[in-house]
Amino acid sequence: MTAFSLAPEAAGPRLHVARRTLERLRSVPALAPRYPAHLDADSLERLAELPPLAKDDLNTALAHLEPAAEQSATWLFQSGGSTGAPKVGYAPTGFYMAGVHAHWQPLDRADVFVNAWGAGRMWGAHFLAAALADLSGCRIIALGSVAGDEYGGWLEFLAARRVTAIGGTPSVLRLWFSQARAAGVRLPALRKVLWLGEAWQPQLAADLAAVAPQARRWGMFGSTETWVVGTNTPDCPADVFHPLPHQLVHTDADGLLDFTTLDPEMLNPVLRYRTGDAGELTTCRCGRPEPAMRVLGRRDSVVQVRGLGLDVDELIARAERTPGVARAQVVLTERAGRATGVEVLVVPTGAAPAPDVERLRTELFTATLTLGTAFQHDPGSFRVRPVAELVSNGRTGKTAALVLREEA
Ligand SMILES: [Zn+2]
Repeated sequence: MTAFSLAPEAAGPRLHVARRTLERLRSVPALAPRYPAHLDADSLERLAELPPLAKDDLNTALAHLEPAAEQSATWLFQSGGSTGAPKVGYAPTGFYMAGVHAHWQPLDRADVFVNAWGAGRMWGAHFLAAALADLSGCRIIALGSVAGDEYGGWLEFLAARRVTAIGGTPSVLRLWFSQARAAGVRLPALRKVLWLGEAWQPQLAADLAAVAPQARRWGMFGSTETWVVGTNTPDCPADVFHPLPHQLVHTDADGLLDFTTLDPEMLNPVLRYRTGDAGELTTCRCGRPEPAMRVLGRRDSVVQVRGLGLDVDELIARAERTPGVARAQVVLTERAGRATGVEVLVVPTGAAPAPDVERLRTELFTATLTLGTAFQHDPGSFRVRPVAELVSNGRTGKTAALVLREEA
């Protein structure tokens, strides 16, 4: 079912921004045919008739438009992209965080905030968190990313500084809190954990309870193209976000979310832009009456293995249900486009007993039709391997469910 996060009377006064974005997209020769003259964005119904925009479309548009901020510098950020050269998104100084801060204030002047999102390499999260912290007037420790052997020293420093807030991607936060727990470090003053970049990881709760029992999570949802779309509080479920009034969220009949920015300062032409996330509009249990969005995650969790579809998320969920397994990740190795092997990496919880890896391998192999069929003649090409940590992106600290490796 098609639905919008804003009522027509709330969206109406801001739709001129969507109409201007439509004109900008129409000026891009490669995209113009998708937007014939009879299409418009002057009402929500008409907006819903526009074709959705994918990441590649947006980058085609940006390459042509090369937007520049009117009142500040223009920052270039890398927006990921699954194939080919890095794709670029733009933002003005401030990263639209004044609009976020007007509606969401997890930090205040009394906070000592550790910005643990990695900085540099054209990733935007560290900078937008810095802009939010700046607006809150708190004390800021711009830590960025930290290497494996540096956690101990920094944790002592953070404990001594009595930090009250930390922010990062959930994968990175898990490293911080599992290291702290293992080292017996306590952060009793920590009350706020800000997160952005990935889904919340429920396993964080166990480490938080041991390390920082007072800490509560505060989430942001967005992308390098849309910037922050919505936020939540400790009273909201971790997968439910309240869209900001200048971000219009739409759910289509196919269950995919798309985003239209109604902020006149937005440099990226975000008009029915799809991040690939599935979701729905819902009512949040925190009591705020306006529609909230539940993010159900990516729809692209199925990969082709020797012509058969392998559901990566399902495989990981099975592995993570096994006693003794904290996290799992799938590594698919290919040679000339053909799968030569599938490996499930598992990080043990550290608690006894250790996971029975051989038993888990047999279980996954028999329970997953794709694996049993694809590797019928070379079952040894499917493996389960315990590791100390999963493969993560050095730039963002994010840990993908699937890692693709090409063999020479
Ligand atoms: Zn809520």
